[in-house]
Amino acid sequence: MYKPTLDYAQQQDKEDKLAHLRAQFHIPKDPKGNDWLYFTGNSLGLQPKQTQQYIQQELDDWAKYGVEGHFEARNPWMPYHEFLTNSMAKIVGAKPLEVVVMNTLTTNLHLLMVSFYQPTKAKYKIVIESDAFPSDRYAVQSQLKFHGFDTEEGLIEWKPREGEELLRIEDLEKIVDEQGDEIALLLIGGVNYYTGQYLDIKCIAEIGHAKNCMVGIDLAHGAGNISPELHDSGVDFAAWCTYKYLNSGPGSLAGLFVHEKHAHNKELPRFAGWWNHNKETRFNMRQPFDVMPGAEGWQLSNPPILSMAAIRASLDMFEEVGMEALRAKSEKLTGYFEYLINQIDTDRIKIITSSNPKERGCQLSIQVENADKSLHKKLTENNIITDWREPDVIRCAPVPMYNSFEDVYRMVEILKTLL
Ligand SMILES: *Cc1c(COP(=O)(O)O)cnc(C)c1O
Repeated sequence: MYKPTLDYAQQQDKEDKLAHLRAQFHIPKDPKGNDWLYFTGNSLGLQPKQTQQYIQQELDDWAKYGVEGHFEARNPWMPYHEFLTNSMAKIVGAKPLEVVVMNTLTTNLHLLMVSFYQPTKAKYKIVIESDAFPSDRYAVQSQLKFHGFDTEEGLIEWKPREGEELLRIEDLEKIVDEQGDEIALLLIGGVNYYTGQYLDIKCIAEIGHAKNCMVGIDLAHGAGNISPELHDSGVDFAAWCTYKYLNSGPGSLAGLFVHEKHAHNKELPRFAGWWNHNKETRFNMRQPFDVMPGAEGWQLSNPPILSMAAIRASLDMFEEVGMEALRAKSEKLTGYFEYLINQIDTDRIKIITSSNPKERGCQLSIQVENADKSLHKKLTENNIITDWREPDVIRCAPVPMYNSFEDVYRMVEILKTLL
């Protein structure tokens, strides 16, 4: 049904019900004023035009009210994080009780492991993907070390088979079957940052729970990209950043999910601060510490409102469009991208991301034989912003919020000439 022509791509954009969203973003331009072909929404999402106004409002209210802004601001700062909860919960398929926006991703993973990584002498190992994002690997290694375990012995890698790039769920099943009695935690990327593989997290939860392992999911590359249905998946916890597909700005705050089944367990070990103390009595500043139910019970500090304002600006857009419509466009757009790449007459290119739309988000990871970083440089010189991974992989994410079929068409035309 796809066609490899500019006419076809432009026609798809005309028929696209989400095409108007592109104009609501700042698209970076070259010095001549041409839009960049921006394919790195998986690294830093573009800025919604309304973000400035959302942040400005908080600056204005701060100027006007000082400390009284906690109650008097148009969006009072005291409960500000609550304004984000419902939209964020919808994006990841969770109940509001299960979600909070706070801290940054790696920090949240640590705070979650304080509660959900409770190793014993016999059951202490952690399973991660062999190409897990470095920060997650460091985090897990440091947790092992913190509890007095050897980081080599304590870490089990779920690897692709020889000659393959993608992970197979049956291989995880085998690991857990054989070593489950020694495994305390599975911490897996829901969408792998490198291959773009979208794993079946419900299945991962079942595999882990069958052997009494805790199951945590890093959704950095999932949130705002795929619909992970966190509640129904049964995973114990998850965390994700908001500056990738959720367009909230560099280093912005992260999301945290704790499954409802743990919401009222006050016995879970956890770190404390005034912000996870019961809101009703928080400002009495008295003993004893009374932890809040649900995900809010993992907060420590009063949160940065300016960053939250940027998240609100973005979540309001997601709320308006809905993940279902975004996902539908995304499958079509990435499908078109895949189709065009497969049309290129060369043996040098291989897409390592799954060809099944159910097993990927919008990102395609393209392996180019005999390529080096100069290819990436040439793409950049042609206004095509992609992400290079050594030794030979270009990661490209056509984002349904702001990328067009024409973007994808033009990108592949240029890639062809560079090969
Ligand atoms: C982007 C990303 C991170 C980044 O962590 P920060 O704490 O936000 O710096 C961590 N893990 C994964 C899987 C990521 O994709």
